[in-house]
Amino acid sequence: MKSLKLVDPYNRHLNYLRISVTDRCNLGCIYCMPGGGCVPKLPHEEVLRYEEILRVVRVGVEMGITKVRVTGGEPLVRKGIYPFLHALSEIRGISDIALTTNAVMLKNHLREIRSAGIRRLNISVDALKPERYARITGRDAFQKVWDGVQEALAAGFSPVKLNVVVLRGVNEDELADMARLTFSLPLHIRFIEYMPMGEGPLRVDNPLLGEEILEKVGGGGRLLPVAAGEQDGPAVRYRFEGAVGEIGLIRPMSHHFCARCNRLRLTASGHLRPCLLSDRQEDVKGPLRSGCTDAQLADIFLNAVRFKPISHCLDKQAVKGRMSAIGG
Ligand code: SAM
Ligand code: SF4
Repeated sequence: MKSLKLVDPYNRHLNYLRISVTDRCNLGCIYCMPGGGCVPKLPHEEVLRYEEILRVVRVGVEMGITKVRVTGGEPLVRKGIYPFLHALSEIRGISDIALTTNAVMLKNHLREIRSAGIRRLNISVDALKPERYARITGRDAFQKVWDGVQEALAAGFSPVKLNVVVLRGVNEDELADMARLTFSLPLHIRFIEYMPMGEGPLRVDNPLLGEEILEKVGGGGRLLPVAAGEQDGPAVRYRFEGAVGEIGLIRPMSHHFCARCNRLRLTASGHLRPCLLSDRQEDVKGPLRSGCTDAQLADIFLNAVRFKPISHCLDKQAVKGRMSAIGG
C-alpha cells in the first residue's frame, strides 16, 4: 500500500486528514447550526465507531497521511473520546495530531488531552463579550471557554489558536480587541471568512472579507507579515510589532487556497470527502461494515482523491453538507 500515494490529478499531495468524530454539539453557533442547534442529528448507529475511524486512519497513514485533526461537532462531547485520542496517537506514522474544540469542556480535560500526545489546540471563540458570545452560540459559556484558553496556555499547549468566524454586524467591532490579545498572550488568532453552507445557511448580506477584516484587525498596531512555513495551513499570517502572539486570516471566500489544499476529510457519517465545499464524497462506512479489506479501503481513498475538485465553487453552487458533520 506504501506505493499507493494520495496524489490528486492536479499533483496535490494529500497528507492531512481531518476527522469529524460526531455531528453533535453542546453549542448551536448561528453560522454553523442556524436555528440554535435544532438541526437533525445522525442516529447513533450511523456515526462511525472509534475502531472504524482508527482503521481508516491506519490505511490513510500507509498511503501518506501524516497529519490528523480531530474535530466535530464538538469532539469533547463524544463518550470515550480520550481513549480514542490515545489510540490515535499510537498509530505510527502520524507526526502531528491537533484538536479543534469549542472549549466548553476543555478545562477539566487538559491532562487527558495532553497525555494523548496532543499539543496543538484550535479553540473557537467568536466574541469576548459574554452576552454576545451567548447570542452567537446559544449558551452562556464564555467564562468556561476563556478559563479553558488560559489553562491550555498555562499547561504548555502550543500553539493555541483561537478561531474567530467574522460576521458583519455581529462581532466586527471586537476584531481589533481580539487581535490586541496577542500583545500579552502567545495566542494565534485566526479570523475566518464565513462560508454559507448546509441546508438553510445563515443569510449574510455583504459579508466581511479579507482586506476589510485586515483593516479592522490592524487598528491595534503595526502589522508585520510572518513568512509562511512549509507545514503552514491556509492562513496568511501577521504579527504586531512587539507582540508575543500572531494573527492570521483564513479567506476561503475571497482568496481560494485550493491550489495548495492538502486535505481530506472523514465525516461523522463515515464518508471520505475530498473538498469541504463540494458534496461529492465516498462512502467508507458501508464497505467497512460489510467486511471490506484494507486494499478495498485504499481504493476508496484513491477514488476520493481522484475526484478532488481543482477548486471550490461555493459562489456558483450551494453545499448541502453541514459543517458540524464534516468538521470544518
Ligand atoms: N465544535 C468545534 C469548534 O467549534 O471548534 C469543532 C467543530 S467546528 C465545525 C470547526 C470550525 O468550523 C470552528 O472553528 C468553526 O468556527 C468553523 N465554522 C463552522 N461553521 C462555519 C462557517 N459557516 N463558516 C466558517 N467557519 C465555520
Ligand atoms: Fe458546535 Fe463548533 Fe458548530 Fe459551534 S462551530 S455549533 S461549537 S460544532
